[in-house]
Amino acid sequence: MADIFDMTKTELQEFLVTRGMKKFRADQIFHYIYKQHIFSWDDMVLLPKGDREKLKADLPICFPEILSKLESPDGQTVKLLLSLHDGNTVETVLMMHDYGNSICLSSQVGCAVNCAFCASAKNGFVRNLTAGEMVAQLMAFRKYVTPELHSIVIMGTGEPLLNYDNVVRFMKMIHEKDTLYLGYRNMALSTSGIVPRMYDLADEGIPITLAVSLHAPNDELRRRIMPITDTYPVADVLKAADHYFQKTGRKVTFEYILIQGVNCSTACARELAELFGGKNILINAIPINDNYDVGLYRPSAGEINSFIAYLQKRGINVTLRREMGSQIQAACGQLRIKRENI
Ligand code: SF4
Repeated sequence: MADIFDMTKTELQEFLVTRGMKKFRADQIFHYIYKQHIFSWDDMVLLPKGDREKLKADLPICFPEILSKLESPDGQTVKLLLSLHDGNTVETVLMMHDYGNSICLSSQVGCAVNCAFCASAKNGFVRNLTAGEMVAQLMAFRKYVTPELHSIVIMGTGEPLLNYDNVVRFMKMIHEKDTLYLGYRNMALSTSGIVPRMYDLADEGIPITLAVSLHAPNDELRRRIMPITDTYPVADVLKAADHYFQKTGRKVTFEYILIQGVNCSTACARELAELFGGKNILINAIPINDNYDVGLYRPSAGEINSFIAYLQKRGINVTLRREMGSQIQAACGQLRIKRENI
């Protein structure tokens, strides 16, 4: 069955024409869906009744079912666990910032990358999401929570660059004037460092923000946290990130989860400063939430502060990420895993 959220306007025009409807109806339909948030064919009163009946039969507007909705006590974070048409589930999180609403999307069901700290990888990789299923995650928030959207981050479950074609198609689709008209500067993607696809993304002509999960300053340590280091060593990841900056002019962000006794010593900070000295990058330090299952714990405030202070003293641009939604299992994959393991 065709999926309206997986269609560009040109594709919808072709769909309509092959079923004896007028091409220009695609403009009206996109306007209803993306500008007016009307999601029922019956309510699209500008369409002839006959067209509406055909569309109801051939192109039902299907939203993922909400299995759970969690809201943080401060009301700033809302997390949805969504059920897809085949019964698989994905998580999507809305974060309300001073500058506007940001939605964190999943790009795959499960993940094959298997980072030590991540719940998403626990039950393995299941399948890629289509571009339409990523659009549907945004539209579920627009329908059920709020239509206001400032930015998106593809940082939920999955490694987006291992679902490259669908992820790029998705970003191009929501950039279109007829859909959400979201600027590329309001889109960010986080990768574990899939080097060949980082080069492809640099050549794609879509200057989004690239975030790279680094989490350690050398291969030996990074391998313990991110086994993908065996395939893509730190030096290759940094080279690809440099290329991305040269090609797009967009400063690359390096995410660095702070784990007590693992990667936030002064020696690690020194190595990091040596890697990045003089480079126009940003390090986003994120203290881990205590994870008793895998025995990884949040460092003390003192350890966090001295790690950050060391880097700042060495002229490295570093921020400490404000944590949102830790009370509602907003860390990647937690809610989905909890449900699957019930
Ligand atoms: S952190 Fe991201 S890349 Fe790593 S296992 Fe989790 S979802 Fe996959």
